[in-house]
Amino acid sequence: MSMLPLEQLLRKNILQLRPYSCARNEFQGQASVYLDANENPYNAPYNRYPDPLQRELKDRIAAIKGLRPGQIFLGNGSDESIDVLFRAFCEPRVDNVVAIEPTYGMYKVAADINDVTYREVLLDENFQMDAEKILAACDENTKLIFLCSPNNPTGNSLNREEVLKLLDQFEGLLVLDEAYIDFASEPSMMSRLDEYPSLVVLQTFSKAWGSAAIRLGMALASESIVQALNKIKYPYNISLPTQQQAMKMLDAAPEVQEWVESIRQERDRLSKALSELRLVKHIYPSDANFLLLRVSDANRLYAVLVEQGIIVRNRNNVSLCLGCLRITVGTAGENDILLQALKAMD
Ligand SMILES: *Cc1c(COP(=O)(O)O)cnc(C)c1O
Repeated sequence: MSMLPLEQLLRKNILQLRPYSCARNEFQGQASVYLDANENPYNAPYNRYPDPLQRELKDRIAAIKGLRPGQIFLGNGSDESIDVLFRAFCEPRVDNVVAIEPTYGMYKVAADINDVTYREVLLDENFQMDAEKILAACDENTKLIFLCSPNNPTGNSLNREEVLKLLDQFEGLLVLDEAYIDFASEPSMMSRLDEYPSLVVLQTFSKAWGSAAIRLGMALASESIVQALNKIKYPYNISLPTQQQAMKMLDAAPEVQEWVESIRQERDRLSKALSELRLVKHIYPSDANFLLLRVSDANRLYAVLVEQGIIVRNRNNVSLCLGCLRITVGTAGENDILLQALKAMD
């Protein structure tokens, strides 16, 4: 474990920052008359600012995930967590980050917005990563490594052994995006946060939890990393309706587990049915809720499907994904419509 002290990884201005102290932060507890935040006294409950640290929701998430509430940062989607990580750790035009390629597009967009150099390290033909190659791309200004497992758009989980090598040897923070972990056969790395202080695990309510519309992402990390991220987020970044709806979903955890189970079953059925089509050249193994497949003419296939109102993701222009479409696993009925459309073209 060779992580540099957090004070050395954080940008100086963030280390020295005195965060905005909002009314809801200064007074904590129950009172009967709230005249501290210039709110409108009418239109409860939406007249009140929400809890800036989302304590009740974090207590619930912590219990479900076996974490301490202080290990949880909540953002407006994973996208906010990614952006806040850049703003906390990467000095524009000085620092850099290293990421696998192909992967989720937001890491590079956030790097570009923050004027931080983004170094891509190509995966091998099985979409696996070589820790040595990643480390070779790092230098003393590399603050973050971005990994995504199961990876988007490839669908596979990264070899755990290589991930652990990076955790052992990299001096900055390792951001591991687990947006699809609920569909995977491997367990989450979040249970090893105490073992690896440089680990930041990203999870989201957008996929397995069926709640992309509420915009809620989690960055799971050491208490000191979470504190740094909390310092720089917008004070009321998670709305009350979002916090309430998230708690409703946590109440429905058993039903969510059933959704995940049926999506995994449909993934296998869809994969088998697709493999019988001549226009499908290869289906990559998936640990996620989507399939990446190589087809005979991706652009034409994509266009013909669009004409029928069936939208998949054309990944033809992505590194190592030449000729590939990415298809989200839908309901059995939706998947049948897709299969029928493809059969008609086969
Ligand atoms: C879908 C997805 C997310 C989710 O992002 P949100 O902002 O939480 O909706 C995060 N990472 C990856 C790799 C994804 O594919």
